[in-house]
Amino acid sequence: MQRRKFLQLSTLIAPLLATKNAFSFSGTGVTKPIVISTWAPNVKANAEAWKTLSSGGRALDAVEAGVKIPEADPDDTSVGYGGLPDRDGIVTLDACIMDEFANIGSVMALENIMHPISVARLVMEKTPHVQLAGDGALQFALSMGFEKINLLTPGSEKAWKEWLKTSKYDPNRTNEEINKRIKNDEKHLPYPWPVAMNHDTIGMLAMDVNGNLSGACTTSGMAFKMRGRVGDSPIIGAGLFVDNEIGAATSTGVGEEVVRMCGSHTVVELMRQGYSPEIACRKAVERIVKLRGNKIKGIQVGFLALNKKGEFGGYSLEKGFNYAIQTNAGSKVYDGKYIKP
Ligand code: ASP
Repeated sequence: MQRRKFLQLSTLIAPLLATKNAFSFSGTGVTKPIVISTWAPNVKANAEAWKTLSSGGRALDAVEAGVKIPEADPDDTSVGYGGLPDRDGIVTLDACIMDEFANIGSVMALENIMHPISVARLVMEKTPHVQLAGDGALQFALSMGFEKINLLTPGSEKAWKEWLKTSKYDPNRTNEEINKRIKNDEKHLPYPWPVAMNHDTIGMLAMDVNGNLSGACTTSGMAFKMRGRVGDSPIIGAGLFVDNEIGAATSTGVGEEVVRMCGSHTVVELMRQGYSPEIACRKAVERIVKLRGNKIKGIQVGFLALNKKGEFGGYSLEKGFNYAIQTNAGSKVYDGKYIKP
């Protein structure tokens, strides 16, 4: 089991500049509270979550407050307001939330609402259901007092119009098509969206001072996706899973690959078997490779996990995945390990 020692760092920014060696995890006792999020820019989201965690608040409140930061950020093109639209130019949002009691809520393909995570929480708390989609989710949000807004910013509209010029999208990427290409030994199997596009979905996991875990995941999904497409992020067990006895996990990257192997649930079950968060994430990534082989050339999937001791880890298919941590020791960004060179 990998152990890291956290050293004291007082500011939010300084740790980002610190070398990796300056930050490691002691492994003695339980590190709590703690919050961990996919992708480096989400140090800001962690800082917001930290306000709740450091004042003794509940992990559930912390993760909701935390992920609202990228949801409201017009410069974050993968989450909430300013998220890149589908191929018809419409921004549709997916989000889910899960607490220590296995309460769950999610919204899928929600339009015109700035904070899908808060709607997901209300689905969890105010309805007899666990998932609402599309117009029904919107009507529910409006009935709960959410304001209807235009989520397409000038920047995301411009990016969409740019994409329209080439419309690099292969809706015919069926299993049949893929198998044909593999048979022809094509070196590069095109994915139906620009793979260079950042996958910046935020998945956030937290443990509060009472040792309770919660998680939240929110995204605008794959850029220029087919209308109605829903990825892993709002699906409990795929984009997020929390088991208060064991740990929590979340994912980012091409959701189709995560959904088919119940990614986050798989990571938590691997931790239940005794694997560290990092090894559990690695084994989940390896399972995708085993299942899909050549079919996943050039795509990214990353998992992030936190266990009940406050140990954490991440692993991805491709280079480039990173994640942000905050504890009493300060804030730090880690580069995730990855399978492919
Ligand atoms: N996992 C997200 C989805 O498939 C995308 C991402 O992480 O950027 O919708």
